[in-house]
Amino acid sequence: MTIVNSVNAFVSDILAEKQDFLTDVSDFIWKHPETRFEEYTSMNHLCTALEAEEFIVEKNIADIETAFTGTYGSGHPIIGILGEFDALSGLSQKPGVSNPEAVIPGGNGHGCGHNLLGTGSLAAAIAIKEYLKANNLSGTVQYFGCPGEEGGSGKTFMAREGAFDHLDFALTWHPSAANGMMSLSSLANYQVYFRFKGISSHAAASPHLGRSALDAVELMNVGVNYLREHVKPDARMHYSVTNTGGKSPNVVQSDAEVLYLIRSPKMQDVKDIYERICKIAHGAAQMTETTVSIEMDKACSNYIPNRNLEKVMYEKLKEVEDTILYTDEEMNYAKQIWDSLSVNEKDSAFDSLKAFGAIKDTDKLKEAYLSNVVSDYVPLDMAMPGSTDVADVSWVVPTAQCSTATCAIGTPAHSWQMVTQGTTSVAHKGMLRSGNVMALTAIDVLQNPDKLEEIQKEFKEKFKDTPYECPIPKDVKPSALKE
Ligand SMILES: [Zn+2]
Ligand SMILES: [Zn+2]
Repeated sequence: MTIVNSVNAFVSDILAEKQDFLTDVSDFIWKHPETRFEEYTSMNHLCTALEAEEFIVEKNIADIETAFTGTYGSGHPIIGILGEFDALSGLSQKPGVSNPEAVIPGGNGHGCGHNLLGTGSLAAAIAIKEYLKANNLSGTVQYFGCPGEEGGSGKTFMAREGAFDHLDFALTWHPSAANGMMSLSSLANYQVYFRFKGISSHAAASPHLGRSALDAVELMNVGVNYLREHVKPDARMHYSVTNTGGKSPNVVQSDAEVLYLIRSPKMQDVKDIYERICKIAHGAAQMTETTVSIEMDKACSNYIPNRNLEKVMYEKLKEVEDTILYTDEEMNYAKQIWDSLSVNEKDSAFDSLKAFGAIKDTDKLKEAYLSNVVSDYVPLDMAMPGSTDVADVSWVVPTAQCSTATCAIGTPAHSWQMVTQGTTSVAHKGMLRSGNVMALTAIDVLQNPDKLEEIQKEFKEKFKDTPYECPIPKDVKPSALKE
């Protein structure tokens, strides 16, 4: 017990000492929101921070310009700490207010809290490094700068190139309104472009000579909307028309493009639905006498958590529960955010917390604007209604992830409310709490080889008949967000 306490005190002291440095890093990334695979400023800032903390930085990991690692120490165990730092387009928002107001209209914003995510993971890496150093221990801590999580599956591309293969285990977290274990699986997905090519013509003078690519896109979407009834209920099919062929209705559009995102809890179902959607696309091309080309944009696997690693992480999350404290000012601001929600958003506030660990005990959070409890650990064999590229890491090494409260209960993901709370004291506290939990988890596993053995045994058992197969073919390259 004394040992546990001294480790906890050591990590808390390090994080208290580095608190200003870490919050500055997070706020800097928040102020420079960059979208997938173009996060150069954020990457450089994190790399400089890692170098200042004695990590050896390596850039261009897996041939991705904004992917990097920071490594400290030597020998096993090799601990991977995953950090994200990309933003979303169209979510520019002023900080610390209670109404939507863009800094730059149409600009980017940190609507998923990845400024906190990348920095909370940096906090963990630094605390682990300090612990290895102070105790002269064998072991390596490796921070992974993972770009392009939002719609880009950066980690899946990195996993394809073997970036995580040498790790003994990996830890990460995600900001939310709850403190809990992210123990649910997630949806596997395929994101695929369908491009139709026809013949343009004057829409009034010679429509009979035209073959409309836009018609093909519309017919394809109609076909897929009929398919919906005949797929498993937890499958999802979304699309976005990324090229309508132009703005002139008096032209028969010769080029059109639609981007599909196909999701399901199991990759095989995603593949089956994809094959059926391809048939529909070919059908649409036949009907319109156009041609179709199909190009995969990206994909990711379903998340397979490591329960033994989760158990350690949950224990550590509980150990910091009594440090979750808020000021009246913080509570008042959280109430303002709550008041900004629609009735429907308020109704679904607790449902959306399930993905972040508040699964069965949401009654603990009723009437609260900020979570000051750790939600019960409920290892359920079901998928949350969303995807994450952490999934592909989980297929390669034992992985666990938690969430800590960085925002008001009810804050929708990818919303102005999430952006505006990204630099608050509550956000900073949550970020450091996750850093603390990840560091304590890593140190506990490092010092207890029997736990690591159990963790790795579980991993081997789970994947013995289904070794990792990267869902992104070798020739597909990461793509930046199209304007
Ligand atoms: Zn997101
Ligand atoms: Zn996110």
